[in-house]
Amino acid sequence: MKTSNIAIFVPHNGCPHMCSFCNQREITGQATQPTPQDVVDAVEIALNSISTDTQNSEIGFFGGSFTAIDRQYMISLLKAAYTYVKSGQIHGIRLSTRPDCIDTEILDILKSYGVTSIELGAQSMDDDVLIANHRGHTPQDVINSSRLIKKYGFSLGLQMMTGLYKSDDQKDYYTAKALADLQPDTMRIYPTIVMKNTQLADLYRSGKYIVPALDNAVNLCAKLLQLFHKNNIKVIRLGLHSSDSVGENRVAGPWHPAFAELCQSEIFYNDFLLYCQRHSIGTGDKTVLVNPKSLSKFIGQKKSNIKKLSKLGYNIVVKADDTILADEIKIEENISK
Ligand code: SF4
Repeated sequence: MKTSNIAIFVPHNGCPHMCSFCNQREITGQATQPTPQDVVDAVEIALNSISTDTQNSEIGFFGGSFTAIDRQYMISLLKAAYTYVKSGQIHGIRLSTRPDCIDTEILDILKSYGVTSIELGAQSMDDDVLIANHRGHTPQDVINSSRLIKKYGFSLGLQMMTGLYKSDDQKDYYTAKALADLQPDTMRIYPTIVMKNTQLADLYRSGKYIVPALDNAVNLCAKLLQLFHKNNIKVIRLGLHSSDSVGENRVAGPWHPAFAELCQSEIFYNDFLLYCQRHSIGTGDKTVLVNPKSLSKFIGQKKSNIKKLSKLGYNIVVKADDTILADEIKIEENISK
């Protein structure tokens, strides 16, 4: 059975902020506010779907500013969702919000309505980047609210964006390290995509904002992925999905339908070279053993890794071996060509 989150998008109509990358209406294709009845309808549809394991599913209020919307309206949505948590039909409630919209009063309310996970849109831990992109919060807000969320016993999720206006690889890596230090349970990494009708689109058109190339974004995000893995932090999303209405709204930016897989292939490519270096393995014919689940990731899209390694002088044969862990490889020399 499939465990799935029942996602309910709550737009922040009247949001006082002007984040450079945001045009909620364009991103979501929806501007109407859901009602408590909409919450009930969405959960009932999931409950009636025999292929969904609802007892392990969560109701997710997404949109980025859930705790900043009108308080009574927020509570009305939570009440509708909490009915299903109390009855045991749904595992819990998750939501996403801004780092400066968390305090003890809010957390007390969320706790009393069965919220289990809170995700914060941190985006960057660099002051200048946050200011340049009009985020309206500081890195310290991210630190304070993350600590408070953990102290209350909620699962903490953090989101970061790479390639924002006035950012660079160094600042993005610093952000990832600073966020890893806060020990979130989950991370989402989004390379910045320029959407229609945003300030970023104007900056891009005027030449003030240069979008990172896809290769660069993959290279950087592969490093960030490894950093979070080393810190035992689960990355639950890497790159926007096509379902985020990216296609029709994208002006520019490093978007790819399989962005996460490109990053995982990049990691395998680097791992191969590191393995050769550590084991003093030279170029020539090699057999690489990988877990069956990782076969396509090692090979890369359109055999990209095989081709890149061939240019370096490695002639690779890849074999599936279920004794190898999913994120590991073993290289054997001259077993076959
Ligand atoms: S991303 Fe920024 S501008 Fe957009 S809704 Fe959230 S806080 Fe408001």
